[in-house]
Amino acid sequence: MLATTNAVTFLVATNAKIDIRSLQFQELEDKVREFREPLYRARQIADWLYQKRVQSFDEMTDLPQEFRSRLAEQFDFSQSEIVRVLGSHDTTRKFLLRLNDESLIETVLIPASPALYGSRSDRRTICISTQVGCAYGCKFCASGLEGFSRNLKPNEIVDQIIAVERQTGEKMRDSDHQCAVGTGDRRATHHGLD
Ligand code: SF4
Repeated sequence: MLATTNAVTFLVATNAKIDIRSLQFQELEDKVREFREPLYRARQIADWLYQKRVQSFDEMTDLPQEFRSRLAEQFDFSQSEIVRVLGSHDTTRKFLLRLNDESLIETVLIPASPALYGSRSDRRTICISTQVGCAYGCKFCASGLEGFSRNLKPNEIVDQIIAVERQTGEKMRDSDHQCAVGTGDRRATHHGLD
């Protein structure tokens, strides 16, 4: 699960809903303890979020209804919208995503080069973004043209994978690779990729 700092503290301080995928597993366990549910509920929730990729608490059917309602009072699910796709199934595909605050980022899906002995590998690499814009402004790259805007939240990083899966109908496999060379430079961020 991707990391974040003080997500629960932030929630208490502002009383606003945050995306449940902003929580580290440890924070999810803390929340389960707070609700006086057995600790294995944290593993169940993580399984619904990151294996089954659900988008609502109603879909977490092995959790008690009251627990689901209490989670829904405190947490929600953001959803990034894919507004443009360049490329085709057997080539590199570039996805332009619009975030909840209208910011735009890019995610890229790259088919692996042919495997040994010329056979085609079915492995892919997904390049995820870590920032809106980029402060580095490398001359060969368009990502820095508008300058740096903000770091992505952990759930916005996770949601890139989920949005691409939704768009392509192809679930990422364990054999696929993930790298953080989309928009922004991960070395400049302080969270999200541990
Ligand atoms: S995204 Fe990467 S290549 Fe592009 S400007 Fe930033 S650091 Fe340079």
